[in-house]
Amino acid sequence: MSTRRIAIFGATGSIGLNTLDVIEQLGGRDSFELTAVTGNANVEALAKKAIDHGARMAVTADETRYKALKEALSGSGITPAAGTSGLSEAARMDNDMVMAAIVGTAGLKPTLEAAKAGADIALANKECLVSAGPLFMEAIAAGGGTMVPVDSEHSAVFQVFEENQRRALERVIITASGGPFRTRSLEEMRHVDAATARAHPNWSMGLKISIDSASMFNKALEMIEAMHLFALKPEQVEVIVHPQSIIHSMVGYADGSVLAQLGAPDMRTAIGYALSYPNRPALSVERLDFARLARLDFEAPDEIRFPALRLARVAMARGGLQGAVLNGAKEVALEAFIEGRCGFLEMAEITEAVMDSLSHLPAAVDIDDIYAADAEARLRAAGLVRA
Ligand code: NAD
Ligand code: MG
Repeated sequence: MSTRRIAIFGATGSIGLNTLDVIEQLGGRDSFELTAVTGNANVEALAKKAIDHGARMAVTADETRYKALKEALSGSGITPAAGTSGLSEAARMDNDMVMAAIVGTAGLKPTLEAAKAGADIALANKECLVSAGPLFMEAIAAGGGTMVPVDSEHSAVFQVFEENQRRALERVIITASGGPFRTRSLEEMRHVDAATARAHPNWSMGLKISIDSASMFNKALEMIEAMHLFALKPEQVEVIVHPQSIIHSMVGYADGSVLAQLGAPDMRTAIGYALSYPNRPALSVERLDFARLARLDFEAPDEIRFPALRLARVAMARGGLQGAVLNGAKEVALEAFIEGRCGFLEMAEITEAVMDSLSHLPAAVDIDDIYAADAEARLRAAGLVRA
């Protein structure tokens, strides 16, 4: 097999590090040529990964860290770069594939550029589709690459989605673990703090997505992500709580059949699939032992305790820039919650108020419209949290 040229956006994060691990499992430099790795504040970790894995370029998104990155890379022959222009440069390299694993809206622009340049996109950064779904789907089509989801639920759907049976497709059923507060009362949830909220029962992930899992804002984002990725009507997107996180998601067809993808909760399976598609790689991840599992449980999601799910429906029905607004407002509320300036349930209240106040925005024409809506949503949300 020839080597594939790959850039990893967000190489120092949870998904980025797992991606480097999977690349090693898949043959390292014999299978992949690392064009670029990007990170943010921690330039020492970024430089080390760039050197260890033989990247051609390393980019810190934080311009003030350029000198530190340059020093950390000195003598390695690896090109340092910084800021939005550095990320753009990485996006325009001769990439066969880009792992889009930056957290948040900072990932939108470079990922869109890479898609337009024709790279295949392994998409972890769900905010891309939540905030700018139509723009991304157009960019992928225009660039001629393939978008393979890395989010475990969407990877599962992608794996059992029979594209040639689209007319028989009825529904996509996204599973949710229910997070650490699945069985808590509304009153208890009012008082939880970030330390409790970040402890996810099944998955080990970055800080923000872990707390988003506790509030089920992560599932809300995933509903919107699925709608765009698989060109679904809002009512075709269902959510079911499945506490064991063994079934990663399902697709229901017109003959009553439901196809599911199952596996241990380990992001490396979805990452390996995205990196190897349409082939299945050999991975040393845990195998399921069904006798030991014994049972799989399901519960209807509770939109009263988890209002984020209802907000996703509102955003999907309204369309236009509501996804960008939901995400931008949620990010500010989430940061406020992490810093103790906003209660757990207030995150949804703030997000809903901002969505209602910006429900009139027209659909986005380009990425600047997305960033403008995102900025306005953040400004309004900031006005609603404690200073
Ligand atoms: P993380 O916080 O562990 O890592 C984020 C990465 O983005 C780091 O490399 C960081 O340096 C970089 N980054 C942070 N701020 C940046 C900025 N302003 N500009 C440029 N780069 C910046 O996050 P993660 O858990 O790896 O998640 C990455 C993305 O993948 C998120 O969108 C998340 O929702 C999605 N995702 C993650 C998981 C998971 O298991 N961790 C699962 C599904 C989807
Ligand atoms: Mg997920």
